[in-house]
Amino acid sequence: MGSEDSERQQFDTRAVTFGEKADAAAGGDVVSPIHLSSTFALPGLDPDFGLEDADPEKGEWLYGRLSNPTRHALEKRLASLEGGEHGFAFASGTAAIATAAMAVVEPGDHVVAFDDLYAGTKRLFERVLRDRFGVDVEFVDATDLGAVAGAVREDTALVWMETPTNPLLRLCDVRGIAAIADAAGAVFGVDNTFLSPFFQNPLALGADVVAHSATKYLNGHSDSLGGALVTNDDALAEEIAFLQQVGFGNQMAPFDAYLVLRGVKTLPVRMRQHAANAQRVAEYLDDHDRVRAVHYPGLASHPQHDLAAEQTTGHGGILSFELDGEFADAKAFLEALTDFTLAVSVGGVESLVELPAGMTHEPLPKAEREAVGITDTLVRMSVGVEHVDDLLADLDRGFAAMPESRAVN
Ligand SMILES: *Cc1c(COP(=O)(O)O)cnc(C)c1O
Repeated sequence: MGSEDSERQQFDTRAVTFGEKADAAAGGDVVSPIHLSSTFALPGLDPDFGLEDADPEKGEWLYGRLSNPTRHALEKRLASLEGGEHGFAFASGTAAIATAAMAVVEPGDHVVAFDDLYAGTKRLFERVLRDRFGVDVEFVDATDLGAVAGAVREDTALVWMETPTNPLLRLCDVRGIAAIADAAGAVFGVDNTFLSPFFQNPLALGADVVAHSATKYLNGHSDSLGGALVTNDDALAEEIAFLQQVGFGNQMAPFDAYLVLRGVKTLPVRMRQHAANAQRVAEYLDDHDRVRAVHYPGLASHPQHDLAAEQTTGHGGILSFELDGEFADAKAFLEALTDFTLAVSVGGVESLVELPAGMTHEPLPKAEREAVGITDTLVRMSVGVEHVDDLLADLDRGFAAMPESRAVN
């Protein structure tokens, strides 16, 4: 499968087959086998053939940390889906993001990042980049393009964004930020985990590198951890490859690569169903008198609904909402649900629900949580692909379990 296929075929087709080619000589497997071998036999001794000369494109393999046929098939697939030349698969989304950052910044550099980043990424930027390596990290409210423009300086090396964010589904203007980063000569990275390449392609909007937690929608079945980076920048790709294969050795394992390669085949089918279900759930919640606010870019009431229409082709499966009541009401609601599982993580086929104030964002002090809008009754849902009527009936069970005394407010 070459780049001709990438141009000729639609996204849905590439999701199924791109990067996998049946090889009759090797048994003719239609799907990429899981190559567990850590090392590969060489055809002979060639003193001119060094470690970095093995070309996976020619079926040349040397050692599993450098490259592996299963991982390579996935890296090609993901690059194609994000519209990039170079794809890299990592042991986790965190490994991917850390590698992208370390491929760009040096001590003393300036970094501008969204103040609403995934909590783990924020801690990575604070505790590793800033506290250990002396990188000047500045967090801004990136929903405001002016705030980003005001923060980016001549010595800004990296601009790191995520859209929509977790758990409040805030957006940032990827095209607008790309222009600001470009003018400053900064590398612009976007974490595209929440929408997946099916609904949003940051490279096409001007980003230099796109990151994913493959643990979420790319795999889609909550049974592996993984991460990915895709870029069209050859120099950046070279540095990322060096860190992945030599500097850190944080590449994705063959078994996980197989699972993501398998999962991603149904990405378009799943994303359509996730988004349709989430839209119905959001509208249902929006009409409910025990709900104070619903955060979902697919609702016309979302403050950035128009921006979503400009830069995405759909709104994904994740939403959050604020219950009318207190922590005890939220607890009663969550514990009465039977079809939504109480668990962190997002992006799997099964519906999950969590309370950020008590789970994912619990490490943040209450005042800091509330300052970013995470109240004690804010509920986050990852809406799965089940029948939506069952999900709505489950929500009814949750509302019925909330103490009656607060039913009218
Ligand atoms: C889960 C997640 C991460 C971290 O990915 P891991 O695979 O858990 O390391 C990063 N960004 C976003 C938006 C996520 O949802």
